[in-house]
Amino acid sequence: MSMPRIRIVGAGLAGSEAAWQCARQGVAVDLYEMRPARFTPAHQTADFAELVCSNSLKSESENTAPWLLKEEMRRAGSLLLEVARETAVPAGHALAVDRAAFSRQVTEKLESEPLIGIHREEVTQIDEYGAITILASGPLTSAALADDILRLISGSAAPAEGNGGTASDPQLYFYDSIAPIVEADSIDMEKAFLAARYDKGTADYINCPFTREEYDRFYDALITAEPAEQREWEKLPYFESCLPIEEIARRGRDTLRFGPMKPVGLRDPRTGRYPWAVVQLRQENLRADSYNFVGFQNHLRFPEQQRVFRLIPGLENARFLRYGQIHRNTYLNSPALLTPTLQLKAHANVLIAGQISGVEGYVESIATGMLAGRNAVALARQDTPLPPPRATALGSLVHYITHAEKRRFQPANITFDLLPPLDAPLEPETPATGRRRPRMDRKERHQLQCAKALDELLGWLAASRR
Ligand SMILES: Cc1cc2nc3c(=O)[nH]c(=O)nc-3n(C[C@H](O)[C@H](O)[C@H](O)COP(=O)(O)OP(=O)(O)OC[C@H]3O[C@@H](n4cnc5c(N)ncnc54)[C@H](O)[C@@H]3O)c2cc1C
Repeated sequence: MSMPRIRIVGAGLAGSEAAWQCARQGVAVDLYEMRPARFTPAHQTADFAELVCSNSLKSESENTAPWLLKEEMRRAGSLLLEVARETAVPAGHALAVDRAAFSRQVTEKLESEPLIGIHREEVTQIDEYGAITILASGPLTSAALADDILRLISGSAAPAEGNGGTASDPQLYFYDSIAPIVEADSIDMEKAFLAARYDKGTADYINCPFTREEYDRFYDALITAEPAEQREWEKLPYFESCLPIEEIARRGRDTLRFGPMKPVGLRDPRTGRYPWAVVQLRQENLRADSYNFVGFQNHLRFPEQQRVFRLIPGLENARFLRYGQIHRNTYLNSPALLTPTLQLKAHANVLIAGQISGVEGYVESIATGMLAGRNAVALARQDTPLPPPRATALGSLVHYITHAEKRRFQPANITFDLLPPLDAPLEPETPATGRRRPRMDRKERHQLQCAKALDELLGWLAASRR
């Protein structure tokens, strides 16, 4: 019997990885991407796996949760992490890439793979009774397809309170934002300085230091700046971990100094002291000719961004290559809809991957693409798809999106909170609290959790390779 072809909708981060996983296991794929015929509000190129905002794939420090997820993916043969390694730019302890080189290289790899048929067209309907399908159309899924996804899932999910859900509309929305980028040679390095926080790692970040007076002037301008137009359908709560800076600022004069503008560990070489506040800029591409603002997603009008951000010391004459933006972000109520193998409960031949599955972040999206690809292959071979072990970062992420509270479901990045706690020996009870603390410190626990995760991953990889 010939092996059925797998249909993948969306050649973003998740869809590209999924296509590669299928092809490398010998199963043919039809990969559908609507760009360049139709663009999302955030994508700017026709390339696959475009990184629409930051160029960072987060921490590479061993035994951190983002490192663990990436390490698991590397061991499982992720194409996108391989390309990330090849296109990395200096970013201290983080894995950051030259975004143009990254997506171009992913596109070339997929285009030259004979088992991947590429279709540059918008998909507007899912045939749940047809081919095995991986839906990876992302947080900016086109409107026509979003309507059809609603048809597919309607009736099977509980609404989310306060998040745009209603009994007849189980799909959720939240905001996500893009940070601005400036040209490197428009940064005044007489005022800004290169440093890594606490001098850990190489000094890859440009830091713009503020005195108290400069900060006050910037703060006042920021909170009175004119916001970009917001349409009626967009008036929904912001996603707490990706707040626009003007929203953070509104919570108090000092909130930015304790958040994205925190100066601790960044000694200004000219004064020998920590500044009052700092804006950090991260290298954007291999040529190092552009830098993005760390944590400066915002929803201000473009001319206002130019006016306010030029009050940042060192950026008085900054040339902006891109301004911050904000977009609607679409994801499913996965705890109600998905199995831990990323199949729709109601339609086992439809798998969901990427941000639309309720994960948050580039790496998390790639990871679910990898899992959906492997499980689609299992279905094509008439094998049973296997969920990743709970002890792994991938398994914990999937456990979260499929077991979280349905009515208040919010997307999540990978953190140790999602991993199962260790059976670590405990100290005797503390009389004041009645609690027993683990005998190991956090660092030791995280090390053990990572070792266990990687060990269990091996068994799963062997079993799911068959
Ligand atoms: C504005 C914005 C900024 C973000 N910034 C960050 C960040 O800085 N860091 C981070 O870790 N995460 C960020 N995210 C979250 C998330 O990591 C990214 O959106 C990531 O690209 C998600 O990967 P994906 O594969 O799910 O979707 P995408 O990478 O968006 O891929 C989906 C693909 O499907 C295509 N498509 C959509 N509809 C159709 C259709 N009907 N037919 C055919 N093709 C279709 C799209 O063109 C796109 O190529 C951001 C998200 C948004 C929206």
